[in-house]
Amino acid sequence: MKLCNPNAEIFVPDGLPVEKALERTTHMGIGAHYDDLEFMAVHGILECFRNSKQWFCGVTATDGAGSPRAHKYAGTSDDEMRKVRRKEQNEAAEIGDYGAMVCLDYPSSAIKKTKNEDFTEDLKNIFRAARPEVVYTHNLADKHDTHIAVAVQVIRAIRKLPQEERPKAIYGCEVWRGLDWMLDSEKTAFNVSRHENVIMALMGVFDSQIAGGKRYDLATLGRKRANATYYASHATDQASLMEYAMDLTPLIRNPPLGIADYVTGFIDRFKKDVSDRIGKFS
Ligand SMILES: [Zn+2]
Repeated sequence: MKLCNPNAEIFVPDGLPVEKALERTTHMGIGAHYDDLEFMAVHGILECFRNSKQWFCGVTATDGAGSPRAHKYAGTSDDEMRKVRRKEQNEAAEIGDYGAMVCLDYPSSAIKKTKNEDFTEDLKNIFRAARPEVVYTHNLADKHDTHIAVAVQVIRAIRKLPQEERPKAIYGCEVWRGLDWMLDSEKTAFNVSRHENVIMALMGVFDSQIAGGKRYDLATLGRKRANATYYASHATDQASLMEYAMDLTPLIRNPPLGIADYVTGFIDRFKKDVSDRIGKFS
């Protein structure tokens, strides 16, 4: 499959030819940075983990060159950092038994350009080759610009596909903002309690980001644990780890639907819930 960026790479952990590796995809995660998939889309990874009928395809948009670095990595150049981060990502793909890992290697600034036709073209080609049933990307209320740029482009690229080639479902997941605020009736909650050890291993390979003092691994596992306990107030825990997601499927089923209108609708209903609850007691 042809990708626009000559530095892009598709890694297939079990060595199958690329076309075949992509064809078997059932679940796809599309993240801005190396490690985003392992923090936010564990549900898709575990659905496919050591499962000969379902395969996870990871897609990472940016090149990792601008990553923060400290301690052991403090003197690392941008180019060396790109290599370190890609190596870590491919290690995660091996641990998680991914069907394929696509590293698009764009600078973050290129992803944030609204008219990046190359990125849209790459996404369209990846969707055509992989035909995923379920897609996980960033939620649209995230506070990181690159995350939002990726999520919006993913929706735009899917909208360009004929209806029959679009995924059946697309979910916006948690990294730089949790989704606890969403109404329970509107949030999607994935039980990811199985294989906590695999989740820790998937996150643990991103040493270059964690070693500098940002314990993303502990924070992300803590968020999933908190989600599981705070999901329902009157029942005992049904799960020990949960990922929350915003269902973005209506945006790909009904293209005229405005992206910002759809997301602010969740916020408006949250606002009404807060105000109604206070109203009951005042
Ligand atoms: Zn990120």
